[in-house]
Amino acid sequence: MKTLYNLPKKIIFCKKCVTSNQRPNSYPEFNHTRERSNAKYLNIDKYGVCDACRVSEIKKKIDWKKRHKEFVRLLDKHRSNNKRYDCIVPGSGGKDSVYASYILKYEYGMNPLTITWPPILYTGYGYHNFLNWIKFGKFKNISFKHNKRVMKLLTKLSIENLLHPFQTFVLGQKNFAPAIAKKFNIPLIFYGENEAEYGNPKKDILVSKREQNFFSVKNYDKIFLSGISINSLKEQHDLSINDLRPFLPILDNDIRDKKIEVHYLGYYLKWIPQEAYYYAVEKTNFKPRPFRTEGTYSKYNSIDDKIDDLHYYTTYIKYGIGRTTHDASQEIRNNHITRDEGKNLVKKFDGEFPKKYFNEVLDYLKIKPTKFIKLCDQFRSPHIWKKTKKGFVLRHTINKDGADD
Ligand SMILES: [Zn+2]
Repeated sequence: MKTLYNLPKKIIFCKKCVTSNQRPNSYPEFNHTRERSNAKYLNIDKYGVCDACRVSEIKKKIDWKKRHKEFVRLLDKHRSNNKRYDCIVPGSGGKDSVYASYILKYEYGMNPLTITWPPILYTGYGYHNFLNWIKFGKFKNISFKHNKRVMKLLTKLSIENLLHPFQTFVLGQKNFAPAIAKKFNIPLIFYGENEAEYGNPKKDILVSKREQNFFSVKNYDKIFLSGISINSLKEQHDLSINDLRPFLPILDNDIRDKKIEVHYLGYYLKWIPQEAYYYAVEKTNFKPRPFRTEGTYSKYNSIDDKIDDLHYYTTYIKYGIGRTTHDASQEIRNNHITRDEGKNLVKKFDGEFPKKYFNEVLDYLKIKPTKFIKLCDQFRSPHIWKKTKKGFVLRHTINKDGADD
């Protein structure tokens, strides 16, 4: 049977959480076209356990005292004694960036500059949390100001070519911090959690604490944005390299010459998302949305951008993995819910259509809703979805109630 995006042909579910081997390990953000994907998919070992679950087991055995000493050494080496910025904390004012920036400033005496790549379409809740973060924390902040035409065009193209409404955000957010570090000679960048939590290769959390390679490239020759090469974007869509630069990584030479280091606090400190949430509520009056996020059961994860719910819907279409699978798997790993509870939640909410902001988002991007639905069907891999009289049905699910189970 045909598979799209180089997905593994056989669908296997992890025995510990509720995710499958169809999840990309690293989002194939660059050199990614409609036909091709360089993503590696979540590995499930011979015991039937996924990489992310193995990482969370290994994390339980980490010597956190030793890691903490390493952390203090790193900060001591870079702490400025004249109030100059010595580190960057990228974020939105969500729970993770609140936690990261506060502890660096108030517990470890660092001088963080906070920076923000804003959402494509802010929710009121997201903007309110952002303002409170800066106000209560007394932080300085640099926010990127979108060129709306470029942002809309690239987002629209990445939906049409890759069914990836979030590519512009993901790339912008990832590449903004190194660009600012370079500009202002700030040596350290701190992200909160390591993405290994969510199933990136387990070596991330075990071996490397810095990830420079992930944040820079040799040159732009082989990069695609929105599924299109840089040259074609310039020629066919009237875009200049300056229009595109905010979405592109800095060059290897820059990151080396400026000695920029990218670190994850989750490597040094035991990072529990729920605790970061309570911390943010206490310190900055962080507010979850008063309603459940469509497609999942939670109210406080990633609630800044109206386009976010649509993004998770498209991962459900492309990989059969929606936001509930993602959230529940993580909470199972942290022992907050059982696997059976996770399975029920997936049955109830995974793949729920995100209607709340749907028309507003498509209207903004000038895409017709019927066109979007048609695109979704074109992006369904035949080995994941079966076309039936009732429409498309998953062939296999964690609850074993798929068309081919
Ligand atoms: Zn797992």
